[in-house]
Amino acid sequence: MAMPHVMGIVEDGLESMFRGVKGMTYERGNDILPDESEPLVEPNDMMIVASPCHSFEPVKIPADHPARLHCLLCGSAFGV
Ligand SMILES: [Zn+2]
Repeated sequence: MAMPHVMGIVEDGLESMFRGVKGMTYERGNDILPDESEPLVEPNDMMIVASPCHSFEPVKIPADHPARLHCLLCGSAFGV
């Protein structure tokens, strides 16, 4: 009749052990996830700006480009 009592003690010990292991692997997964998702973020913030002198040939620039631009055809400077 002593067996069920002993089994209960062993199960409690194993449960606390597995909890510790699960906590460790879960933390590792969190560390890896941000590194994998970062390269997938593709910067797609290009702007197309038409120059006032030659508006049929727009200039393609990144969104964080300085305000001063130059026309592709005649090279004259203009602001955005
Ligand atoms: Zn021009």
